[in-house]
Amino acid sequence: MDDLQDLYQQLILDHNKSPRNLGKLEDYNRQAQGYNPLCGDKLQVFLHVEDGIVKDISFEGSGCAISTASASLMTQSVKGKTVEQARATFESFHQMLTEDSDNESDESALGKLVVFSGVCKYPARVKCATLAWHTVNAALSDSVKPVSTE
Ligand code: ZN
Repeated sequence: MDDLQDLYQQLILDHNKSPRNLGKLEDYNRQAQGYNPLCGDKLQVFLHVEDGIVKDISFEGSGCAISTASASLMTQSVKGKTVEQARATFESFHQMLTEDSDNESDESALGKLVVFSGVCKYPARVKCATLAWHTVNAALSDSVKPVSTE
């Protein structure tokens, strides 16, 4: 077993078991819902955005280990970022999972999110991993339509 992949897996399992920022924010001003029909993952994100900064963020939902861990890590990553930074992180994350390249230059910006880099080998799982990000992106855009990965 590759040590690094093993470490990544541990982190995903840990975030699935004890998701960070779980539960509805009391004081949110943006929210969006996401659904991945392929796997049955459902989630809702709540954001408190003030002066263009994501002051607080949380999520609720039910889904597979990858979608839950990804939502948990997404909230940690986005919290405290500006809306532009959060969008840029979404783009980098999406690229890492959907583009077949060995470009590792973005990985420093992604931090812990690189744990999902192995997911690109499993196309069905990519939707699980990106669901939280599509959802938060919709919330940042003030979209009222529920997000679907289909
Ligand atoms: Zn899933």
